[in-house]
Amino acid sequence: MSAYAIAAIQAIGEAIITNKENLTALDAAIGDADHGINMARGFEAVMTKLTGLEPDKDISFVLKTVGMTLISTVGGASGPLYGTAFMRAAAASQGKWSLDAAAAAQMLAAAITGIKERGKAQRGEKTMLDALEPAYEAFVAGMEEQRTLVECLELARDAALQGVEYTKTIIATKGRASYLGERSRGHQDPGATSAYLMLAALADFCRR
Ligand code: ADP
Ligand code: MG
Ligand code: MG
Repeated sequence: MSAYAIAAIQAIGEAIITNKENLTALDAAIGDADHGINMARGFEAVMTKLTGLEPDKDISFVLKTVGMTLISTVGGASGPLYGTAFMRAAAASQGKWSLDAAAAAQMLAAAITGIKERGKAQRGEKTMLDALEPAYEAFVAGMEEQRTLVECLELARDAALQGVEYTKTIIATKGRASYLGERSRGHQDPGATSAYLMLAALADFCRR
């Protein structure tokens, strides 16, 4: 039921808000020092919106609310990108009140496709996709081994963290960090980090 979906989003929001300074510091090194501020603003608004939501809504409705709120409140590249991701996950979960691993995988795939279409980026360009695509692959690999949804999420989280580490080794070719060229190397991508934090919060929440 939607109370569970709302609580899951709240767990994600809390993780983002807790890491606001950290995300902003990462963006200060290779961007314009606002990623944590942008994301925290967005999730503050999301949490306010969800508090007033009727409990008779499906997962799709909850995610659509998240996506629309992020698009309308987060400035910068990350707002439309994460907003699109949640909107696509919403479209992939219409009429659902609970999720199994296969349904969650479809939602993650839809979210990633949305980010790629919107941002015209590929893996290896030092963006959130460098956390999300390996996460998706690890999730699917877990599914093929008949792992549970929570186990798949934990595999996805671990792969996302490796993806975050990988962003330190490459140069940015999309977003503001691309203006730095070679000087972006050695720095951890803020958006990959926020993507990891969301997956980690979701895995922890579902494990509880
Ligand atoms: P802005 O760069 O507009 O200030 P943010 O600081 O909130 O926006 O977000 C920056 C993050 O957005 C980057 O760290 C990167 O992960 C992500 N990003 C930027 N451009 C793209 C893109 N075209 N595709 C995917 N992710 C992107
Ligand atoms: Mg920024
Ligand atoms: Mg900005």
